[in-house]
Amino acid sequence: MAHSAVSQVSVAVPVGSDLSIRRSIFKPHTLSFCGTLWAPILTLDLSTKNARSKYRYTICMSVQQANAPKVSVSPLQLEDAKEPPLNTFKPKEPYTATIVSVERLVGPKAPGEVCHVVIDHGGNVPYWEGQSYGVIPPGENPKKPGSPHNVRLYSIASTRYGDSFDGRTASLCVRRALYYDPEKGKEDPSKSGVCSNFLCNAKPGDKVQITGPSGKIMLLPEDDPNATHIMIATGTGIAPFRGYLRRMFMESVPKYKFGGLAWLFLGVANSDSLLYDDEFSKYLRDHPDNFRYDTALSREQKNKNGGKMYVQDKIEDYSDEIFKLLDGGAHIYFCGLKGMMPGIQGTLKRVAEERGVSWEEKLSQLKKNKQWHVEVY
Ligand code: FAD
Repeated sequence: MAHSAVSQVSVAVPVGSDLSIRRSIFKPHTLSFCGTLWAPILTLDLSTKNARSKYRYTICMSVQQANAPKVSVSPLQLEDAKEPPLNTFKPKEPYTATIVSVERLVGPKAPGEVCHVVIDHGGNVPYWEGQSYGVIPPGENPKKPGSPHNVRLYSIASTRYGDSFDGRTASLCVRRALYYDPEKGKEDPSKSGVCSNFLCNAKPGDKVQITGPSGKIMLLPEDDPNATHIMIATGTGIAPFRGYLRRMFMESVPKYKFGGLAWLFLGVANSDSLLYDDEFSKYLRDHPDNFRYDTALSREQKNKNGGKMYVQDKIEDYSDEIFKLLDGGAHIYFCGLKGMMPGIQGTLKRVAEERGVSWEEKLSQLKKNKQWHVEVY
C-alpha cells in the first residue's frame, strides 16, 4: 500500500516558466511511508483543463527524489572553471539571441508590470548565477543619431543551466518602465522605458542583442557550500536570488551540494506583486532546515509603528539573528532599487548601535571579509 502511494506521487517536476499553470496543476500533498512523514511534494494533476499540451513538463519518477525533489542536470564545463565568464560579447559585437517566452509574473492588483523573459543564447553566452546580461534594444539612440541605443543591464534570474536545464537559456526579470506625467495625471507613452518595454512586448522568436555576462560582486561563494546567505531584494532585485535558490534547491549538480542556510527577504507592494512565490514556497516545504523566506508587503502590512512594512522593518524584526549570523561569517546580499539602501543601512546602523557595535567598523569588516554584496540600480 505504501509502495503504491510512492509510485503515485514521487514525481520530480522541472517546473516550466508559466506560473499560472504551475499554480493550477500542481497540488501539494503530504504522505507517510514506512512510518515517516514525508515532506510535501507536488503531484501533477493532468485532469485539469490547464494541462495543455503546449506546456512540456519532464516528469521523472524516483523514490529518492520524493523527499526533496530535484532536477538532475548534466554538469556544464562551467562547473570546472575557476573564474566566471566575463564580457564574452561586448556592445560593439553583441550576440544575437532569440526570445523563447515572455510571461507576466504579477497578479492584476500589482502596481505596474514585471515580466519573466526567457532568452535562448544557444549555449554561446554562458554565465554564473549572480551575473548580468546587457541588452541593446533595437532602434536608434535619440541622443546619438545613427548609433544604436546604449546597453541596459539586467540581472540574470536563472542558474547557469537556464529554466530548461540545458545551459542554452537565460531568464531575466524585467519591470516595464512607464512614465506617469504628474501634471496630466496619466501615462505618457512617449517617455516609456525603451528596453524594458521592448523586452516585455517581445514575442517568441524575436531577436535580441545581448552583451556580457558581467559582474562579479553577486557571485555565490561556491567553495563553501555550507555558507549562510542572507538575501535582501526589492522588486526585480529578486532576479539573482531566484538563480541562487534554483541552484541550491531545484537542481541536483554533483559539484554543488548546498548544505547551508539561505534566508530571503523580499519587499514588494502587495501579495499580487510577489515574484516567484511558488518556487520559494516549495523550497520552504521541501527544505525547511536550509531555507527561510520573509516578505514585506508595503501596501498590505504594517510595521510595528503602524507605518508601511518595508524590508528594513523585517530586517529589524530579526536583527538579533541577522547580526549573529553575520558575526558567524554569513554573506549578505542586496539587490533592487537604489532607494532601498539608505533605509536598510539606517536600520542596520541603529541596531548595531543598540548592541554597542560601531556600524562603520562592522561594515568595513564585512566588506573586507567579502561578506557584503550590493547590486542596486
Ligand atoms: P529608459 O528608456 O532608459 O528610461 C529610463 C527611465 O526614464 C524610465 O523610467 C522612463 O520611463 C523614464 N523616461 C524616459 N524618457 C523620459 C523623459 N523624457 N522624462 C522623464 N522620464 C523619462 N531592471 C529590471 O527591470 N530588472 C533587472 O533585473 C535589472 N537589473 C539591473 C542590474 C544592473 C546592474 C543595473 C545597473 C540595472 C538593472 N536594471 C534592471 C535596470 C535596467 O538596466 C534599466 O535601467 C531599466 O529597465 C530601464 O531601462 P529602459 O530602457 O526601459 O528605460
